[in-house]
Amino acid sequence: MQQQEGLARYREIIPDWDEFLAACARPLPLAIRVNTLRSRTQDVRERLTRKGFSLTAIPWGDDLFYIETPGVSKTIEHWLGMFYIQEAVQTLPVRVLDPQSGDTILDMAAAPGGKCTHIAACMKNRGPLIANEPVGKRQPSLMANINRLGVLNATVTSYRGESFPMHTSFDRVLLDAPCSAEGTLRKESSLRDGATASTIARLSRLQRRLIVRAYDLLKSGGTLVYSTCTFAPEENEGTVSHLLAERDALLEQVSLPFDATSGVTTWEGEEYAPEVSRCARIYPHHIDSGGGFIARIRKPA
Ligand code: SAM
Repeated sequence: MQQQEGLARYREIIPDWDEFLAACARPLPLAIRVNTLRSRTQDVRERLTRKGFSLTAIPWGDDLFYIETPGVSKTIEHWLGMFYIQEAVQTLPVRVLDPQSGDTILDMAAAPGGKCTHIAACMKNRGPLIANEPVGKRQPSLMANINRLGVLNATVTSYRGESFPMHTSFDRVLLDAPCSAEGTLRKESSLRDGATASTIARLSRLQRRLIVRAYDLLKSGGTLVYSTCTFAPEENEGTVSHLLAERDALLEQVSLPFDATSGVTTWEGEEYAPEVSRCARIYPHHIDSGGGFIARIRKPA
């Protein structure tokens, strides 16, 4: 397979490059998100602290902690679904989606369910939530997490997102797309050299089909959040720019509880729609987590 020049191709677009490389070389800190369907932040903190775990609050998320002590997955609190072990960066797409009780919501690529269970918690288990995952071997983990975390309003479906049936429309859709996952390199050392050009090209073709379908499934005035955990502009701004060319979609400014980097508007000779600067790029050295990309799109009312 063709190998790209690794992460170095991002040198021009990632600010504070040396700090970025240093952060990528450090292990990923373990983080948990309190599951408000099963517990309260204070209770999780007290119970785990009593058991000898060292918790540090993450300043931009009142339900998030770093945990330095190993073994938290083997506690009764974990088995009871009082929290979900999740990269801190992975909680951001749901915050941007802003799910509300009573909404009708589609999570188009849902396994293993980190974001789906977070959406259900924001909805307080009220309103239909469709958790879609076409890959059979990934469905058991999705269903187990839905069950363990006390999610009552989700139904699991198994369509390929690009052909998800058009008979229902949604207030909100999350497309946390299959991607080259370069932003997970702190836990997946095989990704330290970046993804290959052929992988990125294949995924970007799939993402373009998925984002158009996800948009078409929205009600008028509905909101789509597109997220990835990769740095590749072809899979990020390139995908969003494709949607803007195909549909009358409105791209909104992504607002996060910290300063994020704006989306890039040009890349390797390609010009993207200028609005893609409203998207957010999140880097490991800025929030001590993994990397990611988020776009918030609205269908005109
Ligand atoms: N949202 C999940 C979470 O927070 O736990 C992670 C989703 S992961 C980034 C992307 C998912 O997309 C994978 O589970 C993968 O199996 C699924 N997927 C792959 N091809 C797909 C397709 N054509 N349509 C919908 N989902 C697909």
